[in-house]
Amino acid sequence: MPNISQLLSDSIRDVPDFPNPGILFKDISHMLADPALLRHSINELTATSGGVKIDKVVGIDARGFIFAAPVALNLDAGFVPVRKKGKLPWETHEMAYSLEYGENIVEIHKDAIFPGESVLLIDDLLATGGTAAAAIKLINQLEANLVGVSFLIELEDLKGRDLITPVLGDVPVNAILKY
Ligand code: AMP
Repeated sequence: MPNISQLLSDSIRDVPDFPNPGILFKDISHMLADPALLRHSINELTATSGGVKIDKVVGIDARGFIFAAPVALNLDAGFVPVRKKGKLPWETHEMAYSLEYGENIVEIHKDAIFPGESVLLIDDLLATGGTAAAAIKLINQLEANLVGVSFLIELEDLKGRDLITPVLGDVPVNAILKY
């Protein structure tokens, strides 16, 4: 009988050429549909806080929200969305970045995090690192204390860590599944 970590890894479906030719899309739908696997992924991401008191868990639009909100509840922290441009109703900071498949702008509400608050950043997947780097810059702009960046999946060949390390310094980068 495979263990839960193996079952989690096996549940991720590779979809070639989605949404563009040459992209191998990591489809988490089967994992999300299985309560034991979903719970395990949330627990693993929660543990990446390392027992440090977290004030806000920031999730990145859109699949990052699925994980960041339950992790926030587990840590007795608040949830803050980083959203694609045009979705947040109040004053925002914005940051442009290039994606594995395209260009984008993300935003955060200016009053979403107070200076000095401890923040854990979560997204579903680290590919080239452009999205996470933009979110990290927004968190830094709000003068928060970023204590960790955690992903369910890291695509190691795309070297996203190399892109985010310069904006992160010593802050740990965690990934539950590496391909
Ligand atoms: P990147 O900015 O290149 O690190 O891309 C990360 C973001 O794009 C994440 O929010 C993912 O949801 C999405 N993404 C990028 N590449 C993939 C992929 N191969 N499979 C699934 N999602 C991806």
